[in-house]
Amino acid sequence: MAGSDSGAGAGIQADLKTFAALGAYGTSVLTAVTAQSTRGVDAVLPLPPQTVRDQMDSVLGDFDVRAVKTGMLGTPAVADAVAEAARAGRLPHLVVDPVLVATSGHRLGVVEAVERLLPYAEVATPNCAEAAALTGGPVGTVEEMVAAAEALAARGPAFVVVTGGDVDADGESVDVLSGGGTTRLLRAPRVDTRHNHGTGCSFSAAVAVRLAAGDAVPVAVAAAKEYVTRALTGAQGWELGAGRGPLDH
Ligand code: PLP
Repeated sequence: MAGSDSGAGAGIQADLKTFAALGAYGTSVLTAVTAQSTRGVDAVLPLPPQTVRDQMDSVLGDFDVRAVKTGMLGTPAVADAVAEAARAGRLPHLVVDPVLVATSGHRLGVVEAVERLLPYAEVATPNCAEAAALTGGPVGTVEEMVAAAEALAARGPAFVVVTGGDVDADGESVDVLSGGGTTRLLRAPRVDTRHNHGTGCSFSAAVAVRLAAGDAVPVAVAAAKEYVTRALTGAQGWELGAGRGPLDH
């Protein structure tokens, strides 16, 4: 469940590309339509909650859904519709990517909406800006990421991974995973590319694929990080659009 990105770098398009690349069959519940390119977001149209409910009913009534990932929710009313389905036990292995603001600065969601869904998440995947918005504290260092991941894990999700793609930790990209009583760091080399639009969407979609396949959360998160590093590396030589281009799925 996510918003459409007309430039197809992030949102539902990134999710479906990730599902396909990792061998899973993905369906899609649209929550909003954005007019967007590699340069940023130009317009946003949230969909009515009933339209989101109808899509969930169609998909969940037919497919043997093994895992669910949410991205942009758009409005608290849509978040309530999704939370209602989660509360009813209809959304297995729920990965919540708490999308709030695009890197271009455009608002894509509100904290109150994300907070309604967080308690039902098996894994929540905020980036540093989203973790800061949700905890109220600064999140710009690995130490602050650890504090934020632990604080958010205490608010309902079984696991929280704060993704650190925006923090240069001595040439590494460090994610912090907290849950099950432990906090651990996951490291990968930083990939220097302007083709990094949709990284968070692709990461959370990859986590959902691995959970659907039966991996434990720490294994799924490590595999997703490897996937995103590979997708960033593959796009390094690309020249799509003038802004932040898509990953190589
Ligand atoms: N647009 C949509 C529809 C999204 O779901 C997301 C997800 O995070 C974004 C844009 C933001 O992408 P980025 O932060 O890479 O600009």
